[in-house]
Formats: sequence, structure tokens, C-alpha cells
Amino acid sequence: MQYISSRGQAAYVQAAEAIKMGIAPDGGLFVPKAMPNLSEKVIETMFHQTYQERAAYILSLFLTDFNREEIDFCVNSAYNLKNFAQEKVAPLVKLNDKLHVLELWHGPTSAFKDMALQILPYLLTTSAAKTGEENEIVILVATSGDTGKAALAGFSDVDKTKIIVFYPADGVSEVQRRQMITQEGANVFVAAVRGNFDDAQSGVKEIFTDPALGAFLAKNNLKFSSANSINWGRLLPQIVYYVSAYLDLRANGDINPDQAINIVVPTGNFGNILAAYYAKRMGIPINKLICAANQNNVLTDFINSGIYDKNRSFEKTISPSMDILISSNLERLLFELTNHDSERVSTWMAELNGKGKYEIDENTHHIIRELFWSDYASDAETIATINQVWQGHGYLLDTHTAVAMNVYEKYIKSTRDDTVTVIASTASPFKFGSSVAQAIIPDKLGEEDEFGILNVLTKEVGISIPDGIRDLDKKNILHKKITEKDKLEATVLEFLGLDS
Ligand SMILES: *Cc1c(COP(=O)(O)O)cnc(C)c1O
Repeated sequence: MQYISSRGQAAYVQAAEAIKMGIAPDGGLFVPKAMPNLSEKVIETMFHQTYQERAAYILSLFLTDFNREEIDFCVNSAYNLKNFAQEKVAPLVKLNDKLHVLELWHGPTSAFKDMALQILPYLLTTSAAKTGEENEIVILVATSGDTGKAALAGFSDVDKTKIIVFYPADGVSEVQRRQMITQEGANVFVAAVRGNFDDAQSGVKEIFTDPALGAFLAKNNLKFSSANSINWGRLLPQIVYYVSAYLDLRANGDINPDQAINIVVPTGNFGNILAAYYAKRMGIPINKLICAANQNNVLTDFINSGIYDKNRSFEKTISPSMDILISSNLERLLFELTNHDSERVSTWMAELNGKGKYEIDENTHHIIRELFWSDYASDAETIATINQVWQGHGYLLDTHTAVAMNVYEKYIKSTRDDTVTVIASTASPFKFGSSVAQAIIPDKLGEEDEFGILNVLTKEVGISIPDGIRDLDKKNILHKKITEKDKLEATVLEFLGLDS
């Protein structure tokens, strides 16, 4: 399988090269040249496979330059009981006949990012070895909170790699911040950026695409790559769990062969929902992809109007991992929906870069409206939904998943569609424990700090605090660097010992 750039100015490469580079040399994103198809016959053979077997098969369709041993090594090193608290890795929980929650947060950092970032280090180091890479790989990450810790956990002490994470100084929850600044490992570097996630992401993208800096690194036997969802190696493992959820529903008899499903995804950078779109393209019968946004509803407006306009105020919400105004993976969707028209995509991306705004053509917008439905939830609605679902189902949602649930309710009200629906649950409620506690036990919080609140919450709901979050307040703080948003490059050089 060859990979092509969404900007059309880069040579075709094999998967290993695409994963190693992270971003295409022309600034575009790599996508597979063609989409493999899962026939009904193949789907039926996968009903009783384990998550690992399903993952290995799906990965093998896209990573045609990897051999079976390499794929099995990557899959089994990532998805095991040492890393994931659930044998099923990504279990489906049935709330009622029409509604299932896909829990994607049983990995070490309690957010869905682990689903991809536990396997990415293996995909990347295998890719580097396969392509004869001699330089050490430097992973650069911009994070809205969850990617940072998941990437640190995945890459910590991985041979021949270094990892540098930038997070917005005031844009992450206390649990998220503690998770990152206490990360151990000889090859990890973490810095807070005075700015928001978009500042961090734009800064990192600039560093990536600066040829002079790339050459300087090469002289020092180093090479940048990305663990953000611009890297195909991040996106591919996410396709697996949507296919797997559908297989579980079929295998359990929750749906018939002729029934399609809806998928609701709490969306920020558009990576997770794009993976669901790719599952649909592979033949999984998906009716609507429901894109749930928070108050930063740039995607909702885009899906409904065809105009992407990031010129609006950046809102800090209680679902911080979705506080994003530039959804980088949308570029991949546009490339797919225009039948790989890199010229049109490049024009839109240039407009986004210049004016912060672009409008897609009517035909492309029509296709988007057929595939997607979108709305958003305010913080108050998010809190109310956590409370209602706890009272009604005894099921505790984190703030991001609650955004998805709230938007799903709006979808039902608006369309009366009764298709069986899967909600992607992207974080453990304990990761955003103070907001969750405010939703269900506002009277019991007193003067507790964030970690005190977790202890109150765990007693109240009878669910234990995940290992990676418990006792975080007692761990040593190892990373104290704060940097200005226009000084990211200097910070990178300082971390790498290349500043003179
Ligand atoms: C990253 C994240 C999201 C948004 O996912 P995207 O792939 O960026 O759209 C939603 N919820 C949580 C908890 C996250 O960590």
C-alpha cells in the first residue's frame, strides 16, 4: 500500500516511511492511496477473534510493507494486560437496546489516546529499523492534555527515541498536568507553553516543516517525527476499535447483518471521528457519524454551513481535550471527499493559514452533510448530562463523553432516528474528576482540592481510581520548564543540548 500527501507535492511512500516522517515533506498529511475492503465473509470470520487478532488483521491491510511477525510484535507489545486494565481492551457497555458505550480509556493514562499511543512507539521504531534509519528519532508533541501523557507513557525509555511535549500552561486539568510533569524516563522532556493548544500545535508544525532546522538535526544524527494524529501511525490503530465494536455488536446479536449503526464521537482535532469514517469506507455499515463539539464549535458550524472559520474566541471548557479551533485531520477528510484533489485541499489550507477561514464547494458540503451530523454542548449541558446519566443508568461519564451523549440526545430529538448507536467514550471520569463530582455530588465537595475530590468521588460511586491517577499528587515533579509560544524552537534545541 502506498501513501500519498494531501497536498500532492510529495513522493509516494510505503507505510514505514509515512509513519517515520509523521508529516509529509510538503506540509500535507499522508493518507493511503486506496482503501482496503472488509467483505461480509471476512467480517464473519472476525466475530470470535480477540482484539489483538482483529488489530493484527486490520493493520496488515494497511501496513503491507510490514511482515506478520513485525505486526504481531507491535500489536502484542501494546495491547496486553500489563498496559490495559480490561482483557477486551476496548469493551462495549450496553446502556439500552439502542445505545452502547465504547470504553476507550482502560490504558495506562485513562484516556483514549492510549489506544494509539501504546502501539505507536512500536510501529515507529519498527518503521525506523525497516527503512534503515540511522538517526535517533525525536518525537515532538503538542497536546491539549491527553496526548501528552499518553505519548510520554508510550515513548518513555524507548530505545533510539527522545520525546518532547508542549502543553498549554493554563489549558489542561490538574490531573493532566500532574500526569505530565511527573513523567519519568531518561529520554522525556516536557514544557508548558504560555498560550493555548492551537499556539502549541502551530509552533510544533512550524518546527517540523523548517528545512534548515531539519538539516541541522540531521547533522547531529537526529530526526523529527510526530506522535500527534497527523501521523498515520496514530490514526490507523483507531480504525481498529470501531471495526471491533461493530463485530462485537454483530457477534452478540445486538444487530443483524442488514443493520447499520451510528457512531457519536466527542471531537477536537477530528482524528478519532476520522478513524470512524475510515471504518465506514472499509465497509463497516455506519449510518451517521455524529460529531459532538463543546463550546469551541467550529466543526459544528463547518458541517452545517460548509464554512470553516477559526476567527472566534477560544473558550476554555470543562472538556479541555476538545478545546481546539484548528482541527488538523479535517484536511484528510477533505482530501478523501474530493477524490484526492490536492489542489483544492491546498487552496483551502492556504486560506485557513492566511485568513483563518475557507468555504468548501457545494458538492463537497453536500457529501459531508450526508455522512455527518453535528451539534455542540455547553458546559452547563455537559454537567446536566453527567448527572442525568448517573441518575438514570448508574453509569458515570467523563466530561468529553458527556458532550457526546448530550449531542446524541439532540440528534434523536431532531431526527427521530432510532438506529443502534455507539458512543465513543474517550476518558475515565476520574481524569476529569472535579467536574464530574460537581455534576453528581456538588454538596459534598467542601474545600477539597482536585485529589481530595477524587477520594470523595470514588467512595460515592464505588468505582476505584485508575492506577495512573491515584497518588499523582505525591509524585515528584520532574519537569518545570515554561516557554513563550514563539520560543518553541529554542526550547527544543535546549532540550536536545544543541543550543550554543
Ligand atoms: C483527544 C481527546 C478528544 C478529541 O479527540 P480528537 O481525535 O482530537 O478529535 C476527546 N476526548 C478526550 C478525552 C481526548 O483526550
